[in-house]
Amino acid sequence: MELLPNFKLHRPKDLSSALKLKSNEPHSRYLAGGTDLVVNIRRGIEQPKNLIDLTSIEEVQEIEETKSGLAIGSGVTLNRVRDSAVVQESYPAVADAAKAIAGPTHQQYGTVGGNICLDTRCLFYNQSEWWRKSNDYCLKERGEICHVAPGGKRCFAAFSGDLSPALLVHGAKVEIFGKNGAQEMDLKNIYKNDGLDHLNLQEGEFVTRVFLPKSTANQKSRYKKSRIRGSIDFPLAGTAVRISLDKKKTISEISIALTAVNPYPQIVSGLEKLIGKKIGKVELNMVQEMVQKQAKPMRTTTVSPWYRRRVVGSISKKLVNELYSELLQG
Ligand SMILES: Cc1cc2nc3c(=O)[nH]c(=O)nc-3n(C[C@H](O)[C@H](O)[C@H](O)COP(=O)(O)OP(=O)(O)OC[C@H]3O[C@@H](n4cnc5c(N)ncnc54)[C@H](O)[C@@H]3O)c2cc1C
Ligand code: SF4
Repeated sequence: MELLPNFKLHRPKDLSSALKLKSNEPHSRYLAGGTDLVVNIRRGIEQPKNLIDLTSIEEVQEIEETKSGLAIGSGVTLNRVRDSAVVQESYPAVADAAKAIAGPTHQQYGTVGGNICLDTRCLFYNQSEWWRKSNDYCLKERGEICHVAPGGKRCFAAFSGDLSPALLVHGAKVEIFGKNGAQEMDLKNIYKNDGLDHLNLQEGEFVTRVFLPKSTANQKSRYKKSRIRGSIDFPLAGTAVRISLDKKKTISEISIALTAVNPYPQIVSGLEKLIGKKIGKVELNMVQEMVQKQAKPMRTTTVSPWYRRRVVGSISKKLVNELYSELLQG
């Protein structure tokens, strides 16, 4: 068992104090539920001298219905998202995803902000100090090479958060707080295709809220993942799907987003070909092919990229079929 190193814990009560602490304290990290960060600190992957705990900031703790939809504070815990009646009713993929994260204890402490900003993961990185040292570390942490793609200079560690794909299919935006105050951006824009540095946030910036637009009638969404142990594990591959039908029972909107198959949660492109169509065998095969072609898992887990690509294609096809059939039945 590795012991936690010493660090100083700061508990700001408002957004500006958190930002000020982050600017003033060298080697500092924001802390939310700590269910990922503290594990990484214990393993020596992260060595911050200061932790800035965001959980005492009241203004990021609410789930609120607004004129334009729903606002979820970044400090809201996953069990509250999972159990929220409005999330279950209007954004079911988001409730599914919260329910699929780790186990019930993690859901009680883990937060929306921590899940969205979760570090990328890799078989060669999320290991103990002695394990990483005996492999001469890797590009993401102290080392010279990538064990996944030894010839290259890129890190392919996979973004493995479950919430983001579900939020993405519902068109989520996030509010970021930084030195210029609060600003809003599409959730997809806070991610970069870089396992080493996957968040598009400037120094000190942090996520304060997630906004979901009002959900329309005649739409359904769902999230499903594949994992080794059904009770607790990170996704090997995960898919969120949202579909709406028009009066003629043809597709008016379709959105699919993936997790754990790239360094960022990926929105599947090209689905507009299905708008105005009924879903049959040909269209389902088209979905599967498109997903399999766009997902680019690497050897970052114990399970082969080949298998994860097949699985993510199959889950996507299955979900599209299920949601379409359920919408047809009304
Ligand atoms: C055994 C185990 C299984 C797990 N399984 C899963 C799983 O199946 N799916 C999954 O998604 N996760 C899983 N996790 C990881 C983790 O529990 C969740 O991702 C959780 O949501 C992280 O949230 P947190 O509040 O604990 O984040 P923390 O650990 O506190 O922080 C995570 C990261 O986010 C940053 N951060 C936190 N809040 C903010 C903010 N508001 N703005 C900017 N940056 C911020 C932190 O600096 C840190 O880098 C698992 C963890 C364990 C230990
Ligand atoms: S993908 Fe390569 S560089 Fe990135 S964490 Fe894995 S081994 Fe390290």
